[in-house]
Amino acid sequence: MKPLSSRALGVSPSPTVAMDARYKELLARGLPVLSLGAGEPDLPMPQAGIEAATKALSEGKTRYSFMAGLPELRAALSKKFSEENGIAYSPEEILITSGAKQAVFTALLALLDPGDEVIIPSPYWVTYPEAVRLVGGKPVVVDTRFEDGFKLKPEDLRKVITSKSKLLILNSPCNPTGAVYSRAELEALAAVIVEYNLYVLSDEIYEHIVFDGLHCTSPAALNAEMRARTATVNGFSKAYAMQGLRLGYVGAPAAWTKAMIAIQSHAAHHPSTLSQYAGLACLQVSAQVLPEAKKHYLEAREYALSRLKKIPGVSWNDPQGAFYVFLSVQSLLPTIVRSKTDSHKIENSLDLAEYLLEEWHLATVPGVGFGCEGYLRLSFAQPVAYLEKAFDQLEQGLKALSFGS
Ligand code: PMP
Ligand code: GLU
Repeated sequence: MKPLSSRALGVSPSPTVAMDARYKELLARGLPVLSLGAGEPDLPMPQAGIEAATKALSEGKTRYSFMAGLPELRAALSKKFSEENGIAYSPEEILITSGAKQAVFTALLALLDPGDEVIIPSPYWVTYPEAVRLVGGKPVVVDTRFEDGFKLKPEDLRKVITSKSKLLILNSPCNPTGAVYSRAELEALAAVIVEYNLYVLSDEIYEHIVFDGLHCTSPAALNAEMRARTATVNGFSKAYAMQGLRLGYVGAPAAWTKAMIAIQSHAAHHPSTLSQYAGLACLQVSAQVLPEAKKHYLEAREYALSRLKKIPGVSWNDPQGAFYVFLSVQSLLPTIVRSKTDSHKIENSLDLAEYLLEEWHLATVPGVGFGCEGYLRLSFAQPVAYLEKAFDQLEQGLKALSFGS
């Protein structure tokens, strides 16, 4: 047999999704396992969305629909972009996709030629480098620093730009660090972006989950130059807890969107019609749903941070947005774990996540999956009562480690 494609042989499953699968496997075996692993809202999807999807189904809306998405949803998102983000995307400049993940892929496919370089600040969401590689681009990872709140500095961006650089991926609020770029920070980056004629993919899926009175600024809203070079990706998974319904969208300049629509017409035709009706109804109840959700995540964040303060040897930047803490465990590693029957070495974040899952029945995601060794990502999108138990396990598990050996 001839081998699978080199593309396929080079890709491994998403570590966030893989950890979630392991957690669910242990749960199915009846083990009392808890998860601070995969990042997904614990809230229910808004009732209005459920009713709209049910109604669409009962009305027989099950045939093929528009390849770029329902016109009424594209119109509603055009209004949303204008009112919430200050970006004037016409409905024709918006593509509805099967999740933000699909939007990222389609935007990359439409933009990149083989060998084009894509600059990705690290820590990054696990999918960006793989998606770039899968479409034939070359990921160029640029490290950010803990002491800078994990935000990319213009001088660091400048250093990695080459004649092949085509795109910069920005993700604010950031998964996994919770960093939120201020308008001034984005303006400083924008000066370099425009100078070097880069495109931008701005993933804003956590835009509504921001704390401490912060506001999410869209790079495309900064000025006409930035609008002309930016694709703004977003979705319904986080804001409306519709992650299983797979609904996302992307707004971009007309030519980029036209290319994405053509690609989607072959790759997926269009996202689920039922999900699109659900999404439309959810947008209409935003004013009620979003503040409630934010309050819920704020409470979870406060609880999570209060618990971390009781664990020696760990450090973190308070997340400004999203629902993750990117926890430095560098001063705990490497270490030896001793039990009655066994003694083994924990070298890195992967070993540590494995140890927490196997011995303390707690799922976390190792930092290495986000391009940053020495960290664990904890998702706090859980009710406080659940977090109490999960943080008990984390605290006991980390306290049981003998410090550096
Ligand atoms: N971007 C980021 C930063 C994410 O954390 C996620 C979560 N999976 C996504 C995009 C994709 O979201 P979805 O495909 O569920 O819309
Ligand atoms: N975005 C979530 C996470 O980072 C869901 C899993 C995924 O799509 O990566 O955990």
